[in-house]
Amino acid sequence: MAYDPTRASRSGASDIKVSFEFFPPRTTEMETQLWEAITRLAPLRPKFMSITYGAGGSTRERTHATVARIVKETLIRPAAHLTCVAASRAEIDAVIRGYWNAGVRHIVALRGDPVGGPGARYEAHPEGYAGSTDLIAGIRRVADFDITVSAYPERHPESATLDQDVDALKAKIDAGASRAVTQFFFDNAHYFRFVEKARARGVAIPIIPGIVPVQNFKQTASFAQRAGATIPAWLARRFEGLDDDPATRRLIAASVAAEQALDLVDNGVSDLHFYTMNKADLVFAICHMLGLRAPAPATMGAAA
Ligand code: FAD
Repeated sequence: MAYDPTRASRSGASDIKVSFEFFPPRTTEMETQLWEAITRLAPLRPKFMSITYGAGGSTRERTHATVARIVKETLIRPAAHLTCVAASRAEIDAVIRGYWNAGVRHIVALRGDPVGGPGARYEAHPEGYAGSTDLIAGIRRVADFDITVSAYPERHPESATLDQDVDALKAKIDAGASRAVTQFFFDNAHYFRFVEKARARGVAIPIIPGIVPVQNFKQTASFAQRAGATIPAWLARRFEGLDDDPATRRLIAASVAAEQALDLVDNGVSDLHFYTMNKADLVFAICHMLGLRAPAPATMGAAA
């Protein structure tokens, strides 16, 4: 194979845009860790930082408090996740209005997992939104939010076919979503296949790949199984025999995620979303490799 010196990932990457996902902290210690990560990553001027919404709305107050603090203390635009599981429309609408009143203008709108957990049968709340498409329409009725939705390059566990996922994505766009972030995956072929199918179906919005640096292989493998993402044999092999060697695991995690991100960029992707797990180091290193730099030390700047 001929050596290709024109790799986009080596060109300085001024047009690469990133976004970062965090979860709301449960304890004071976790809050300190989260803010250390936000403070470290903010100077890279992400397009947005999103804060997840715990299963069944369990982090409702904490998600709100975290996005409100991002609005107050940084120049980054936060995106607040929201699910419609186990809540009435009136309760969800109150959360949406609360986000707006706190200065949040971007919602990641999701149906959420069934109350019984992934794999159980989903049942909408009797007075609630039926699913993500319905939720998007509800958000739009409350205020003019920017809306991001999910996409599943390897199929959502409840979908019979990948086409069903593409149809679900199309329905969410028709309801008013302006971008999708994907479930994490490790084989980029899944992502490119899904984007091709979505484009053929008339989906024109950005479909941003979600990348998870493997902070803990066993945990990631178990989460992947529930989320319907495959762990390729080569990935398992890379972490084999390293259970008692955290330093090597970290080096491998950084190289795996960097390899994936660089390959996406080499193949024309310019927007990347990182599942940070509230830890900055691996994500910061990968962004640095992609050419992202802080404009000035300790500046909490936002993307233009
Ligand atoms: P949906 O878009 O609602 O789709 C689920 C499946 O249902 C589809 O694949 C399709 O098979 C079917 N379906 C839905 N609508 C239609 C339709 N109109 N036509 C045909 N079929 C349809 N969970 C949380 O609890 N909190 C979070 O903060 C959170 N953040 C996430 C962020 C991202 C980027 C991703 C990818 C997932 C996130 N999740 C979160 C997980 C998500 O809630 C679960 O995967 C849930 O089971 C599905 O919700 P959804 O909105 O992603 O899926």
